[in-house]
Amino acid sequence: PEPQAAAAVPQAGSESLTLLRRVGVTDPTSLDDYRAIGGYAALRRAFALGPAGVIREVTEANLVGRGGAAFPTGRKWQATASQPDHPHYLVCNADESEPGTFKDRVLMEGDPYALIEAMTVAGYAIGAHKGFLYLRGEYPRALALLQNAIDSARARGLLGDDVLGQGYAFDIEIRRGAGAYICGEETAIFNSIEGYRGEPRTKPPFPVEKGLFGKPTAVNNVETLVNVLPILTGRTAAEETKLFCVSGNVDRPGVYELPFGVTLRELIDLAGPPRTIRTVLLGGAAGSFVRPDELDIPLTFEGTREAGTTLGSGVVLVLDETVELPRVLLRIAEFFRDESCGQCVPCRVGTVRQEEALHRIKDRTGADAAGDIALLREVGRAMRDASICGLGQTAWNAVESAIDRLGAYE
Ligand code: NAD
Ligand code: SF4
Repeated sequence: PEPQAAAAVPQAGSESLTLLRRVGVTDPTSLDDYRAIGGYAALRRAFALGPAGVIREVTEANLVGRGGAAFPTGRKWQATASQPDHPHYLVCNADESEPGTFKDRVLMEGDPYALIEAMTVAGYAIGAHKGFLYLRGEYPRALALLQNAIDSARARGLLGDDVLGQGYAFDIEIRRGAGAYICGEETAIFNSIEGYRGEPRTKPPFPVEKGLFGKPTAVNNVETLVNVLPILTGRTAAEETKLFCVSGNVDRPGVYELPFGVTLRELIDLAGPPRTIRTVLLGGAAGSFVRPDELDIPLTFEGTREAGTTLGSGVVLVLDETVELPRVLLRIAEFFRDESCGQCVPCRVGTVRQEEALHRIKDRTGADAAGDIALLREVGRAMRDASICGLGQTAWNAVESAIDRLGAYE
C-alpha cells in the first residue's frame, strides 16, 4: 500500500476521551497493548449477558447509527436477530466517503482491535457467524492495520471456530471498495460483495430482513460499532460522546470527541476559528450550510434537525470570508453528478441539470439567475421525492441551504 499520513487527533491522550482513548496512545499493531487498556472486556461481558442481554443494553443506551441516519441500533439488531431465515450476516460499513468525513479512518487506524472486538460482539448479538468489513478503497493504512488485527485475533482464539472458548464461531473478511461513493450505500455494498455492479436496491425490504445474499443482515457504521464497547463496560448515557470531523479554515483541523449537546460554536472555538466565519457546512455534501448567527446550535441529532439542518456523519467544514461560494456549490454539484450510479432518472438527469444551472448562474452577469434558481428548486424537488437512494434524495440539500440560508446568489 501507498504510505499515507495519519489523520490528526488534536485531543490525543486526553483523559476525557472514550472512543478515541487509545488512538495515538497504544500501538495499533499490538493485541497485547489493546488488551492492557481494557481490550476484550466488552466481549467477555457480552458472553456473560447472552445475545438478548447485549441487545437489551444497547437498546437501553439509546445508541443510534453514526453513519449519518441515526437509526436505533438496538432495534436494528433485534430485527435481525429475530429473523427465522439463516444465516444472518453482519456488515460493517467502513466505506467512509462523505466529503469531509474521516472519523472512521481515525478509529480504524488508531484502534483497529476495537472495531474487530465490536464486530464480534455485534455478530454474537444478531446470531451471525460471518462479518464483512467493507472498507473504503482509499484507506490502505487502515487495510493493513485491520488485516493485522484480524489475523492476530484469529491466532489468539479471539476469532474463529471457538471465540474465547465460548463455543461461538465468528470470523471477519475485509472487502475493499474501488473508489465509488455510492458503494457506501448499504444495499450497493451487498451488490458489490456479491460481485454485481455497485447499485443500490430499493428499500423495503430492509437489510434486516433481506440483505447480503438475500439473508437477514445488520449493517453498522464503524463509529456505531465502537460505541458498543463502552456501553457494555458501563458508560452512562450522560457520558455519551460523538466524533466530529473539523476541517477548513481552522487552526487545528482533525477529529474531535465531545459530549452530545456541545454547540457548534464551542467545537469551532476548540479547533481555532478564523477571524470571520462566512458559513459552516454541517453534515457533509449531503448536509447544509449554516450562517454565522446560527453557531449556537446544539450538536445533537435532534438539535440539528430542529434547526433545519443535520448532524449527518459529523462534518464541520468551516469557511471564512474568502470563500467563493458559487465555486464551492459547483464543486458539490459536480461531485454528485460524478458519483450518481445512473440507475434512476431523477438522480442521473437531475444531478446534470443541477450542475448546468449552477454553471450558468456563476458565469453570467446575473441576467436570469431567478429563472435558474426556480429550475434548481424544481429539479431538487424531483430528486428528493423520486430518487431510489439517499444520494439522489440529498444531492440538492447543500445548494438549497446556500440559496435559502445564505442568499448565495443575491
Ligand atoms: P436510511 O434512513 O434509509 O436508513 C438508515 C438505516 O436504518 C439503514 O441501515 C436502514 O436499513 C435502516 N432502516 C431504516 N428504516 C428501517 C426499518 N423500518 N426497519 C429496519 N431498518 C430500517 O438512511 P441511509 O440511506 O442508509 O443513510 C443515509 C445517511 O448516510 C445520511 O444521513 C448520510 O449523512 C449518511 N452518509 C454517510 C456517509 C459516510 O461516509 N459516513 C456517506 C454518505 C452518506
Ligand atoms: Fe443511483 Fe442516484 Fe438513483 Fe441512488 S438516486 S440509485 S445513486 S441514480
